[in-house]
Amino acid sequence: MAHPPAKIRLHVRDPLGLDAEVALARDQAHYLATVMRREAGESVRLFNGRDGEWLAEIVEAGRKGVRVRCVEVLATQTEPPDLWLLFAPIKKARTDFIAEKACEMGCRRLIPVFTRFTNAERVNRARLEAHAIEAAEQCGLLSVPEVEEPVSLERLLADWPSERRLLFCDESGAGVPAVSALTTAGAGPWAVLIGPEGGFAPEERTRLSALNAAVAVSLGPRILRADTAAVAALTLFQATLGDWR
Ligand code: SAH
Repeated sequence: MAHPPAKIRLHVRDPLGLDAEVALARDQAHYLATVMRREAGESVRLFNGRDGEWLAEIVEAGRKGVRVRCVEVLATQTEPPDLWLLFAPIKKARTDFIAEKACEMGCRRLIPVFTRFTNAERVNRARLEAHAIEAAEQCGLLSVPEVEEPVSLERLLADWPSERRLLFCDESGAGVPAVSALTTAGAGPWAVLIGPEGGFAPEERTRLSALNAAVAVSLGPRILRADTAAVAALTLFQATLGDWR
């Protein structure tokens, strides 16, 4: 049966360029050859976060694995706006959702943050990264956001880069509307901070209000779940200062 031309996009780590050959990782080879039944001569699209997007021809798809060769550049490398998402890890499936959605929404970096009321004890960084990669493959992104090791809120704020604005999503309702905060402060590097199901502790609010780069914002009169709040805040950023304009 004939397959549609190069619908499949794969993220790889190897360098890409004209005639560059890539041996696909075992899981990707399995997906392509066994699950999708692609054969030598058919095409895929590749990106690695550095060299744009390439059309690549399958040179070999067999028991020894799958090798592909870049034949044509389809897009030059671009980056999403300089936006980070800092989020307190919540339940596993909802944390996975956050990683996937943050990638679709166009973040450069995801940083899991342990706050006082964070319930989750561990974060599986590799798992979050796998979700981000899958989302990037699906939504046409040319890079995958970096997924950082989890850090405590205290540490994060102690080392905060002063030029990066922090949109502190404050469920108390005391903050200014998020859109006014964004448009008032204007373009530049930004980060969004979303708390855990238990919200922020009083001393965390105090610490945040002492940080010059931080602005406490409201996402409306209803308390949103953390995963919803993350998508909502990222939407407002992209629509006001980001790449939705
Ligand atoms: N348990 C808390 C709610 C936490 S909601 C309470 O009942 O008050 C999880 C996170 O989502 C919050 O820490 C905040 O970062 C974000 N959030 C949810 N609703 C919000 C809103 N209306 N405005 C700003 N941030 C909100």
